[in-house]
Amino acid sequence: MVRTQYRKPLDSEQVSVPTGQVFVIAERCKGCRFCVEFCPEQVLAESTGINAKGYHYPVVESGKEDACINCAFCKLVCPEFAIYTEET
Ligand code: SF4
Ligand code: SF4
Repeated sequence: MVRTQYRKPLDSEQVSVPTGQVFVIAERCKGCRFCVEFCPEQVLAESTGINAKGYHYPVVESGKEDACINCAFCKLVCPEFAIYTEET
């Protein structure tokens, strides 16, 4: 994915980037992949396992355990309320 370069914010030295922990309620997931596709940090991936409904729920991609910025966009786009994050 090509990322656009933005100007550096003037207060970037004073502001720290938040981090988040991802929680997935696997049994609610219907495998739409919205969270996987639209996470701005590409934190999520489809699991190899399936839930009781037969869908591949999202998991944190290997090596991306500290990459979540707690933006909550995954929570916003999930139609099944199956994913949320908490600030760490
Ligand atoms: S909170 Fe934001 S960065 Fe973290 S997994 Fe969800 S969409 Fe990705
Ligand atoms: S947006 Fe929700 S329903 Fe869709 S794959 Fe992600 S967790 Fe599952």
